Amino acid sequence: MSDAQELIPAAKPVIDEQEIEAAVRVLRSGRVVQGPEVAAFEEEFSELVAGRHCVAVNSGTSALHLTLMALGLGPGDEVIVPSFSFAASANAVRLVGADVVFADIDADTFCLDPAAVEAAITPRTAAIMPVHLYGHPAAMDRIMAIAEKHGLAVVEDACQAHAAALNGTPVGAFGNGGTFSFYPTKNMHSLEGGMVSTADAEVARTLRLLRNQGMEQRYANEIVGANVRMTDVSAAIGRVQLTRLPGWTERRIANAAHLTEHITAPNVVTPKAAEGARHVYHQYTVRVLGDRDAAMARLTEAGIGNAVYYPTPIHRLKPYWEPDQKAGRTWDLPETERAAAEVVSLPVHPALTRQDLDRIVTAVNTLGEKL
Ligand SMILES: *Cc1c(COP(=O)(O)O)cnc(C)c1O
Repeated sequence: MSDAQELIPAAKPVIDEQEIEAAVRVLRSGRVVQGPEVAAFEEEFSELVAGRHCVAVNSGTSALHLTLMALGLGPGDEVIVPSFSFAASANAVRLVGADVVFADIDADTFCLDPAAVEAAITPRTAAIMPVHLYGHPAAMDRIMAIAEKHGLAVVEDACQAHAAALNGTPVGAFGNGGTFSFYPTKNMHSLEGGMVSTADAEVARTLRLLRNQGMEQRYANEIVGANVRMTDVSAAIGRVQLTRLPGWTERRIANAAHLTEHITAPNVVTPKAAEGARHVYHQYTVRVLGDRDAAMARLTEAGIGNAVYYPTPIHRLKPYWEPDQKAGRTWDLPETERAAAEVVSLPVHPALTRQDLDRIVTAVNTLGEKL
């Protein structure tokens, strides 16, 4: 492969000297689990969510799971979730024994369609879980109004949307709980890790108990809890990444703007941000109106990393599909099905150079002519 053909990866997790030094500092300190770095990370992260309480855990999935537990959701409750998401969103609902009710997405934002949410409400509905997919904030103004009208809890899945906002309010600062992931490919990482944000001090306390065997004082267990603690190595890396997040986010937004300005292929639909939305482009996701498999193969040939998030909507995955089949339950999710068939994500990460961006544009525009 010549230099020009070198692969531009779809994602590029950063582990630089700063991260390595932070990890080594913690390892040398001997305080490695649920210590001062975790407390400092929680404190610093809370600035990203309008000063809400923050509770660090070991993954975004744990953040979702514990938040649903802390809000008292369980058997008999229904939670409205988009099927067009990573399975973790729905899995958290099933892990607490509640029922998943799928609602369709908006065609432009790929996030929950508020009208579909309202139509999915039943007497058993207890909560709504909007997912800020690809880094685009869901229509939280309308979703919060629906939740208030019907007395429902809201758990934001902000695992892809660190520092996204709607009308100036950051994601994670709308609902009863906001959840973030620090998996390596996310906009910032802590190797593995997660965070919950909440305005409710009681919910925060319950989360702290749940993550640590139900203990605040050692061996004075108050409730049944799990062990989903964050290590101090992770927290120290997360703190370094948090200082870098603003610059990275600006780069993602600028990279996305460049791609949108220059991609002119008529059968490639570039992403749109809703009015008032600060889209942080965890993914830059286009729709390919044509033979997507062929398009992806050509992008790969040109050395442009590309991927489909997500090829199979959650309601078609075995643990959801089989029980629905048995119960004779079907979902009407045309925009979810269409998105799953059409989307392709292109590289947008902060490490892209101007030359990388130009190569992506050229590859996509050439593709357009051939499809
Ligand atoms: C990554 C992700 C999660 C889960 O986060 P982990 O840290 O991998 O457990 C949940 N929801 C969405 C939408 C995600 O992208």
